[in-house]
Amino acid sequence: MSWAAHDLEPYLFRAKLGARISLVWCLIGSYSPDLLTKWAVYGFGFSHHDAILSDPVQFHRGWPGAGFTHTPFWGFAVTGVILLLTKNRTWAFSYLLGAIAHVLSDSLDSVGVMMLFPFSTWHMHFGLWEYVGEAGRAKDAVAYYTSLGGVWDAFWALWLLRYWRMFTVTYFRDELYPSDPFWSWMHRFTGETVMLTVYRTSAFFGYASIIGWYIWVLAINDFHPHLDWSFGAPHWAPRQGPR
Ligand SMILES: [Zn+2]
Repeated sequence: MSWAAHDLEPYLFRAKLGARISLVWCLIGSYSPDLLTKWAVYGFGFSHHDAILSDPVQFHRGWPGAGFTHTPFWGFAVTGVILLLTKNRTWAFSYLLGAIAHVLSDSLDSVGVMMLFPFSTWHMHFGLWEYVGEAGRAKDAVAYYTSLGGVWDAFWALWLLRYWRMFTVTYFRDELYPSDPFWSWMHRFTGETVMLTVYRTSAFFGYASIIGWYIWVLAINDFHPHLDWSFGAPHWAPRQGPR
């Protein structure tokens, strides 16, 4: 799985595609596959793994299981519902882009995603890094941030730095607010400070995650605190191929 990439990708899409993207709906799309599934993969504990599931890989990415949330089929189905309910094409397209980006990001690990679901349960997987969700959150963090997974997060974080201006109040007022009716809707209930917080939170969370996890993984935790940017790392992790 990808960790902070899902928090940052939508901002890049907004920066590149402008008003064709509703940032909020793109973020909802980006979060949606993991929203109801990740807690079950990790359990509620941090240091030890609460075994809620006997087979997290199957649940998170497989079928039978909740793996259908990690498919283009699911992305298109929800997009159809959004279009029906809101009649807003920009919102629907933004959700779809976020959801598909999530699916493609997750195809980079060793378990991958069911690209052709429901016609096939074949997993598209590039195996750049190992899926270690079954070992619990702490070990998965070590595995992800010492391998190419961490590089993938850092790639998006560094790219987004170029567009730091999009986080200013001026950009929010002049560009974002007028281009997306979501904000005027929200403005009926709350002021600008809350809206700015909502707008920036995912980016803040993404950067804080990457910096925090890298420090924890390399300097604080003493379990394999070494970077290994070889293909399919880390090699201490049990092999988790697609089912
Ligand atoms: Zn995911």
